[in-house]
Amino acid sequence: MARRLIGLLLCSIVTAGCGSNSHTASLPKPTFTGPVVNRPNTPVPTPVVQAKGTVPVFIPSRPANVPAAWVPLANAEKRQWTWIVVHHSATPTGGMAAFDKAHKAKGWDGVGYHFVIGNGTDTKDGQIEVTPRWPIQKHGAHAKTPDNQYNEHGIGICLVGNMDDHPPTAKQMASLEKLVAYLADTYRVKQSNILGHKMTGKQTDCPGSMTNIAQIRSDVAKMRRAVLADGSTNADLTADATDPNAELMQTAQR
Ligand SMILES: [Zn+2]
Repeated sequence: MARRLIGLLLCSIVTAGCGSNSHTASLPKPTFTGPVVNRPNTPVPTPVVQAKGTVPVFIPSRPANVPAAWVPLANAEKRQWTWIVVHHSATPTGGMAAFDKAHKAKGWDGVGYHFVIGNGTDTKDGQIEVTPRWPIQKHGAHAKTPDNQYNEHGIGICLVGNMDDHPPTAKQMASLEKLVAYLADTYRVKQSNILGHKMTGKQTDCPGSMTNIAQIRSDVAKMRRAVLADGSTNADLTADATDPNAELMQTAQR
């Protein structure tokens, strides 16, 4: 079929060529020196260079058991989250409303954390409150350092209570670990970047001597999904960088 079509096409070209014979006699004699044509410099197109080294912002997919309030607004600012910073309120009571009031009194732009986890005083034991910063992906005001990186790229979570006096309640721990596992998976936060406030280098006792970050990291590692929404595994994200054996095991697997 294709050959027949090509054949027909060739025939029609030949026919057309033959038909134009009558015009060639009136054409001027060919010159072989040719006219001098001043060609403008052909502009060289600028190559499109992809910015290297920028980490794409991971757009979250929400598992069925995750509250809708944990997912930012669709038109929110796109922010790269690199750290999760755990705090305690160092007060026996409290909740988002109380901290919002206290932080505004300091001249801040509202409650500085992204999430607050109640202890049964102002809010229910283990209740997770999502502050107004989170839906719009606003930077935190909870972990000031000279370069401000933990405020710009750190998700701030506050446990209500004074964890120098007592550990977080069982319900607070359960809520914290579920939240941290979801956030770490969604924003691809490394296990070693789950921090207590004092691990940012700030001179503080926060989140208290009885908040066990190593325990939180270990529990969260078990809860994290094996495969992320984009199909990649999170093995390198869950490994604790401070554990040389974990690093060795990964190297062997590669
Ligand atoms: Zn703190």
